[in-house]
Amino acid sequence: MQISKRAKNLGAENAFLVGREVTELKQKGRTGIISFLIGEPDFDTPKNIKEAAKKAIDEGKTGYTASSGISELREAAAKWMGDFRNIKIDPKDVVVGSGGKPFIGFTIFAVTDHSKGEVILPVPGYPIYYHQTVAQGIKPVLMPLRESGDFKKYVFDIDELKKKINKNTRLLILNFPQNPVGAVIPKEELKEIADLVLKYNNLWVLSDEVYSHMVHGGEFTSIATFPGMQERTIVMESLSKSYAMTGWRIGFAANKKLASSFEKLNCNFDSCPNHPAQWAAIEAVSGPQEETRRMMQSFAKRAELIYKLANEIPGFKCIKPQGAFYLWVNVTEACKMVGAKDSEELRKLLLDQIDVAVLADIHFDPRPQNKRQDEHIRFSYATSEKNINEGLGRIKKFMEGF
Ligand code: PLP
Repeated sequence: MQISKRAKNLGAENAFLVGREVTELKQKGRTGIISFLIGEPDFDTPKNIKEAAKKAIDEGKTGYTASSGISELREAAAKWMGDFRNIKIDPKDVVVGSGGKPFIGFTIFAVTDHSKGEVILPVPGYPIYYHQTVAQGIKPVLMPLRESGDFKKYVFDIDELKKKINKNTRLLILNFPQNPVGAVIPKEELKEIADLVLKYNNLWVLSDEVYSHMVHGGEFTSIATFPGMQERTIVMESLSKSYAMTGWRIGFAANKKLASSFEKLNCNFDSCPNHPAQWAAIEAVSGPQEETRRMMQSFAKRAELIYKLANEIPGFKCIKPQGAFYLWVNVTEACKMVGAKDSEELRKLLLDQIDVAVLADIHFDPRPQNKRQDEHIRFSYATSEKNINEGLGRIKKFMEGF
């Protein structure tokens, strides 16, 4: 019996795979491993949200719902997303999903036909964009985000983007604040992208805004706010990161034309999002917001700390993260110092020798090593200040030994 090529070749998210390896090592007694792997808040879901879910369960709200989600949540989400971005979103245009992630594959499905068209996606970037594009038989076109020479900011080169767009381009995927580099694009640059996109009749934008509330440098702007852009932008949101609700699996996509396709896709894959979690989600977006503010402030504080500590490590260089909870470190020099051929080898050394778990750039960039710019590792700083101090302290000591 054979499995299909596409199933065999399907990529995944290595934060989960390496995470499993680290969990196994911990179970075997390596309990001192400090993990900077997964982008998941280390906070508990706020109490009022949990109570809303319990109440829903007690009231018997446990059956299937409409595939697009309950109307009460679509209404609350439309207001939450619209108010934050200063645009008007019709509740009928919002579809609730099992997290934000399904809308990546759903969008590619809804705007391309198999083996036709191209999708432009960021590198380094969230790996699912690439995997879903390839799995659905579409050509991925990689749009790099580069470090400026002085390590002050990331460069998204609009002239380079111009060269990558052609009449076959169906979708441009944007993600600011960005995973894995933590960049937030300035409003003027986003406007330039919007102006470019508007020149093409059949070019959609998937704007992955799951970190929209997590900005600690610069200002968040959604590309959907520019005139003419809302109708061709799929605004993707999630409660995973902003409300410490990763396991609840609630996310949203807003787009007038694609809402009915998303509803059908939900119906095909999931029937509907988790019913009690939808009631909890209403409380999340409409209830008191102090808890989420506190969490976001704490990520901002950790960003300062980890950035400072990382830049003190010999061979490490990084740009200050502006959003999300990731630090992307250029370790080209560090690899040379320790004799590692690439960042993956350095990653393994850090795990094997000093019990510090990070992810290497190969997990975020499908290009072969000689086509990538330098060597990088990613830290998720969704972990305590104590772990950040201890983990980066260990790495500093390790690197000072070379
Ligand atoms: N988009 C980006 C850029 C992410 O980093 C993640 C999670 O790490 C997701 C989407 C998916 O989040 P969820 O499906 O939990 O909403």
